[in-house]
Amino acid sequence: GGMQVSAPAPGWLRIEGVNKRFGAATVLDEITLDVRQGEFLCLLGPSGCGKTTLLRIIAGLEKQDGGVVLMGGRNIGVLPPAQRDYGIVFQSYALFPNLTVAENVAYALRLPRKEKAKRVAQLLEMVELDGKQECYPAQLSGGQQQRIALARALATSPSLLLLDEPLSALDAKVRENLRQELRALQRKLGITAIMVTHDQEEALAIADTIAVMAKGRIEQVGTPEQVYGSPRTRFVADFVGSANWLPVRLNEAGLATVGDISFGHDLPAGARTALAFCRPEDVRVEPHWTAGGSMTMTIVDRVDFLGGVRRGMLSLCADRSVQLIVDVPASEPGYDSLQPGQRVPVSIPPHRVRFFMEGAA
Ligand code: ATP
Repeated sequence: GGMQVSAPAPGWLRIEGVNKRFGAATVLDEITLDVRQGEFLCLLGPSGCGKTTLLRIIAGLEKQDGGVVLMGGRNIGVLPPAQRDYGIVFQSYALFPNLTVAENVAYALRLPRKEKAKRVAQLLEMVELDGKQECYPAQLSGGQQQRIALARALATSPSLLLLDEPLSALDAKVRENLRQELRALQRKLGITAIMVTHDQEEALAIADTIAVMAKGRIEQVGTPEQVYGSPRTRFVADFVGSANWLPVRLNEAGLATVGDISFGHDLPAGARTALAFCRPEDVRVEPHWTAGGSMTMTIVDRVDFLGGVRRGMLSLCADRSVQLIVDVPASEPGYDSLQPGQRVPVSIPPHRVRFFMEGAA
C-alpha cells in the first residue's frame, strides 16, 4: 500500500494540464486548477508569470498548446469566445470612445429597443451610475469608466466574470472602494470570478481563493489566510507579505537556534541547518515578549512609520548579519524603545515559526 492520494472533486470550472509556449519560451507549464461556482479566485504573481495568458486561454482569446478548459463539465476550449458565457473587464477600460455609456453597456445585448433601455438602466443602477446613459467615456473618471466596463461585462448575465488587472490603473482610494463594490456585487450576483492581479494586498482583500503563480506554474492554491500564514514555498512566503528568514542551526542540546533564540524543537528530517520563516508581526518586542520563546538582544537599525504599524529593521547583536523585520502597533504604549540605535530584546513564539530547508525552492 502506497500513499492514498484522493483527487479533489473537479471544480465547476476546471483547467487541466494547460500548456502554452510562445516561441521557445514556456509561458504556462501544466496548469491544473479548479474553481467552484460562486467563488472569487485571484491569479496572483509577478509580471510575466503567465497569469494574463491563462485568463486569455479561459476566455478563448488565446489558444493553449495542450490541456483542456472545462466549464460545468463541458469542454469550452473548442468554442469561440462569443460562445463561452463570460464577461471580461480589462485594465484599460476598453470602452468605445465614440459610443455613449448606454451604447457601450448595451453592446452585447440582443434585445428589442425598450427592453434594452430597461436592462441598461438596471445595469447602470447596479454600478451606481444611473443617469449617465448619454455621457461619453471621456466625460467620466477612471473609476466610473471601470464601472461602465463592469456593467458591460455583466450585461448578458454571464456565469463567469474574468477580470484582468481591472483596478490597477486607478488611484489608491478609488481602487479600494471599487474593490469592495466589486466583491459585494460578485457575492450578490453569485457569479464566479477570476481576477488577475500582481498586487498581493488586493488579492488578500478580495479573494476566496488565491492561486499564486511563478514562471508559468502554480506555486500554491489556498485561502488568503493559508497563503499568507502557511506559505508552501519560499517564493510564496516572499511574494505575499513580508518575510523574515533566519538561518537556524542545531545547538549542542539539539535545539534549533538563531542567536540566543531557541525554537525549542527539532528541525525536520534530521537536518542540521534550515531557514526559519516568520512574519514581521510574529516577532515580539520587549516589553511584550511572551513565555515559550527565549529572548535575544537586537539593535534597531531603522524605524519606518507605516500608519497603523511601525516597522523596525533590527539586527541580531551577536551577529549583525542577521536582520529582522518587526511590526509593532504604532499607537500602543510600551514600544517607545523601538528607536534607531536602541538595543531591544525580542522573542519569536515557536508556534509562529515554519522551517524551510536551505536552498529549497
Ligand atoms: P503581466 O502582469 O506583466 O501581464 P503576466 O503574468 O500576466 O504578466 P503574461 O502576460 O501572461 O504574464 O505573459 C507571460 C509571458 O509570455 C511573458 O514573458 C510575455 O512576454 C510572454 N507573452 C505574452 N503574450 C505573448 C505573445 N503574444 N507573444 C509572445 N510572447 C508573449
